Amino acid sequence: MGVIEFVAERVKAIKPSATVALPDKARALRASGVDVIDLSEGEPYFDTPKKIKAAAKKALDEGYVHYIASAGLKELRQAISEKLRVENQIEADESEIIVTVGAKQALFTAMLSVLNPGDEVLIPDPYYVSYIAEVILAGGKPISISLLESRDFRLDEEEIKNKITKKTKMIVINSPHNPTGTVFPKEDLKMIADLANDYNFLVMTDEIYEKIIYDENRHCSIASFPNMKDRTITINGFSKSYSMTGWRLGYAVANKQIIDNMLKIQQHSVTHPSSFIQKAAVVALKECEDEVKSMVEELKRNRDYFIKELNKMGKFRCWMPKGAFYAFPKIVDTKMSSEELTDYLLNEAHVLTVPGSAFGNLGRGYVRIVYSKPMEELEKAVQLMSGALEKL
Ligand code: PLP
Repeated sequence: MGVIEFVAERVKAIKPSATVALPDKARALRASGVDVIDLSEGEPYFDTPKKIKAAAKKALDEGYVHYIASAGLKELRQAISEKLRVENQIEADESEIIVTVGAKQALFTAMLSVLNPGDEVLIPDPYYVSYIAEVILAGGKPISISLLESRDFRLDEEEIKNKITKKTKMIVINSPHNPTGTVFPKEDLKMIADLANDYNFLVMTDEIYEKIIYDENRHCSIASFPNMKDRTITINGFSKSYSMTGWRLGYAVANKQIIDNMLKIQQHSVTHPSSFIQKAAVVALKECEDEVKSMVEELKRNRDYFIKELNKMGKFRCWMPKGAFYAFPKIVDTKMSSEELTDYLLNEAHVLTVPGSAFGNLGRGYVRIVYSKPMEELEKAVQLMSGALEKL
């Protein structure tokens, strides 16, 4: 008897997450006894700071094991409000903040809350893989705008104007950016803010890498610009800054109407993220700046080493990323596609990377390589990759 198909049309329209599915290839190789270095997964390699772990244990002992307010623990929303005021120049009170199960759930819930069928959403390409799927699941239509290396992966005003239609509902920006490592300068954010006001659309800004930023680059929140607070949904979370990817905690900041609508979806889906984890997150925001600083210093050392080595390999041209922890080199001097090269690196060097094409059409010809790894592992990866690429 054939298998009966029970699949919703909306799910047929999306692909599995490339970055979550990829490690399966590495697992298969490992199962056959091969030692694989995984430079595909986007997370800090540091342990969660001790103070945060201790606060979670204490919260469990103190009885934070029951339901709490579905928008999130009041104490945490107050700490987020204070952080936004001091660090991001955003004045938002608790009613304008919702705590979510990671930034990813904040993004998805926000899309579900504001998009109607056929609404167009401008998304810079290459993009973080989940934006497209989330827009499609919410009934919207993703429209690509280009981030080109020749423009330092910055946005082009004329191109955006040409893509704006009556159906344009929102633009999604992400700075520091996954996968390119670009950081949008203030003038580019001002250009986007002006367009959003002139053409009356929303801005969704994913600021999850705001603290992982190098050299003279500075993070700037578009919601702090004049007239932007009410038309911006700011997304952030604890995964990257505090090395808490497995804890699953994020948040969204927007006007009260949007937050109230997100809250309805949250109440009927996840209720709220775990209570004791929210208690620990207060400590992350209030007491862990030193830990974040030393993590970013170490990541900068990794970046400086790794990008220099990539550029010596002969098959890559890699620009210096300004933030996040991804190298995004262009493949040069070989006719191999992104997929062919990443397969070659996995099979010959036993190093797992992600084809740039997984991040959109404009990622074709590139590879995304995570340099958030201990230095010894990076050195080993460099040695193995160089050896394999020399044979080409
Ligand atoms: N946004 C971007 C740009 C990311 O790179 C990631 C994770 O890789 C996320 C959101 C998801 O973060 P979280 O772990 O908080 O769901």
